[in-house]
Amino acid sequence: MDKISIVVPCYNEELSLPYFYDAITSTAESMKENAEFEFVFVNDGSADKTVEVLRELAKKDSRVRYISFSRNFGKEAAMYAGFKATRGNLVVVMDADLQHPPKLIPEMYEGIKKEGYDCVATRRVKRLGEPKIRSFFAMRFYSIINMLSDTNIVPGACDYRMMKRKMVDAVLEMSEVNRFSKGIFSWVGFNTKWIPFENVARVAGETKWSFKKLFAYSLDGITAFSTAPLQISSFIGILFCILAFIFGMVTFVKTLVFGEPVAGFPTLICVILLIGGIQLLMIGILGQYMSKMYVETKKRPIFVVKETEEDLNE
Ligand code: UDP
Ligand code: MG
Repeated sequence: MDKISIVVPCYNEELSLPYFYDAITSTAESMKENAEFEFVFVNDGSADKTVEVLRELAKKDSRVRYISFSRNFGKEAAMYAGFKATRGNLVVVMDADLQHPPKLIPEMYEGIKKEGYDCVATRRVKRLGEPKIRSFFAMRFYSIINMLSDTNIVPGACDYRMMKRKMVDAVLEMSEVNRFSKGIFSWVGFNTKWIPFENVARVAGETKWSFKKLFAYSLDGITAFSTAPLQISSFIGILFCILAFIFGMVTFVKTLVFGEPVAGFPTLICVILLIGGIQLLMIGILGQYMSKMYVETKKRPIFVVKETEEDLNE
């Protein structure tokens, strides 16, 4: 008999949770011959009644466990806390809004049990209901990060996946504070089967991702899994040295042959501005990495727990 742990990060999901619970319990019911389930909900500092809903679910169903954070720590931290709490030999992570259809779980289970994969993950193939411009930037993001990083990131890869215990333990070993799970899942390796699925609309509530947040998240992903931007400055530095040398030679010869008078003040200003700009940009890139290092060296906890289902018995 297998034990499947379902990890569900929840931030302001009071409206979706009842639907989610219905859907996931009927999936569990359909698989009861092969596996037993536990549901680990992580309340990521919701401002609504999410924790009340979770308390009620935990009271009536002993398979439901929950961890409630002291404030909002972000989905990455919620997934980490959830993984840490799981006891199953197979672990699934999925969103609470039913955008990750529970009907794929039996298929994932087959992939691991029959086909021998370590992980079965999902990939969004259609980006329906998403602004065109956002899809465009998403695709650019995947091509840039794959160009800069050795860790391969599959376009459209979702967090929604089932993993064997060994892989979950490897993910937990990566205890960095700046967490970028698309990269982390890929970095740990293991054989992954990809199931394509089509995007469905959220069942209730609304998305927590603005364009600005996604953009910042993608930059975090690049700095977390690539140091290539740090090498750009050396490359540009060498290029400019060569250019300067050639320009110097040309000027020298020109002065000897034609005896050219002093000129070219605008050119001078342009060159100074260009080089100054590039230098500031490179210092900025250095700063990005340094700020990440600064945060990591503090070794702050990834999340802080305020309440779990065990507190209900007190
Ligand atoms: N989430 C979270 N903490 C956050 C933001 C989101 O735990 O700070 C959860 C959220 O409750 C949901 C999942 O992460 O279960 C995905 O969030 P959302 O549906 O807002 O993202 P989208 O599907 O639009 O990418
Ligand atoms: Mg969603």
